[in-house]
Amino acid sequence: MTYLNNLECSYCHENYDPGQLMNLCPQCGKPLLARYRLDRLAREISRDRFAGRGFGLWRYRHLLPVIKEKNKLTLGEGGTPILRACNLGRAANYDALYVKDESANPTGSFKARGMAVAVSKAMELGASSISIPSAGNAAGAMSAYAAAARMKADVFMPRDVPHSFIRECSAFGAEVNLVEGLITDAGRMAARHLAKSGGFDLSTLKEPYRLEGKKTMGFEIAEQMGWELPDVIIYPTGGGTGLIGIWKAFLELRELGWLDGSLPKMVAVQSDGCAPIVRAFNRGSSFADNWEGAYTIADGIRVPSAVGDFIILEILEESGGTALEVSDSQLMNAAGRIAAMEGLFVSPEAAATLLAFEKLLDDGWIERDQTVLLMITGSGMKYLHLWRD
Ligand SMILES: *Cc1c(COP(=O)(O)O)cnc(C)c1O
Repeated sequence: MTYLNNLECSYCHENYDPGQLMNLCPQCGKPLLARYRLDRLAREISRDRFAGRGFGLWRYRHLLPVIKEKNKLTLGEGGTPILRACNLGRAANYDALYVKDESANPTGSFKARGMAVAVSKAMELGASSISIPSAGNAAGAMSAYAAAARMKADVFMPRDVPHSFIRECSAFGAEVNLVEGLITDAGRMAARHLAKSGGFDLSTLKEPYRLEGKKTMGFEIAEQMGWELPDVIIYPTGGGTGLIGIWKAFLELRELGWLDGSLPKMVAVQSDGCAPIVRAFNRGSSFADNWEGAYTIADGIRVPSAVGDFIILEILEESGGTALEVSDSQLMNAAGRIAAMEGLFVSPEAAATLLAFEKLLDDGWIERDQTVLLMITGSGMKYLHLWRD
């Protein structure tokens, strides 16, 4: 059963009934967050039982929003390994370097976690069609779960996205609309379509439940590391749901009294071709300005303006973390090193975390006795066009 209680606005803190389909806060237009009856959960369920049953993401059902068993869609998402990156660690003369390999998810990225939960919940609340503007993995994951749910899916993509992403969505039966321009233009087209068709918008953080799916990465990190969290987590940041989700999981676990020790420093890494969060962090701003002329080969982090910018920035601050950009031209070199040294075929977004680790170690921001976890958010398979011999 779920302990879901209400939706709360991340900005104005207005509360809403979770029994209806909702997008952004009707009062202030900011993201809504799912809230649970944690005090009751702490009384009724032990930590061991919480983490107890099954392998995938639905094992955390008490802190996921879906009510009825029959509405839980699954393609085997979650339950990904945390691996020690011994060879990369040795090369950097570093001991405790770990990666969480999200490429093992259905459709090859951690986007599957968010979509498993969001599409399930949209179905439970009566949505008949769902829609998304996306430049990559989110569209593929949404299309896969829509196929499993036999729901209509509409995808809006910039015309220049790699063929692999387009083909994947059409294979799942989604209606793929190719749009001239950038992801922001795709967003405008999607909004126009939604106004006409009445479908449900699953854009990043514009509905509350993709975040809940991504939160399960945080539960797994805690459980797999024996409830003692790493000192530093490095995350390739686009819209920020992964980072916000992991942190939300830690806060919930802490409130339940289930964590030993302190929370990790959260690090957001972006490409130097699109680094709005890094720029805002360095200026000490609470919000991030739109990044003009965004360019990066890492489609998943080509997000010039994030709805949850202020939440990401708050978390970096609160956790004692940082934000940094890495060179777009070095991403594939880093992906190649992860492949050759660890046997993991990773996406360029994921490779950014290695560059960030090396930079922070060089600067002395990361200390040699710390435990560091890199989030390998996706597989390199859909990016074959970027790989060279
Ligand atoms: C979407 C995506 C990201 C960025 O994730 P956010 O949660 O939007 O910050 C990183 N890596 C990959 C592979 C992605 O698909």
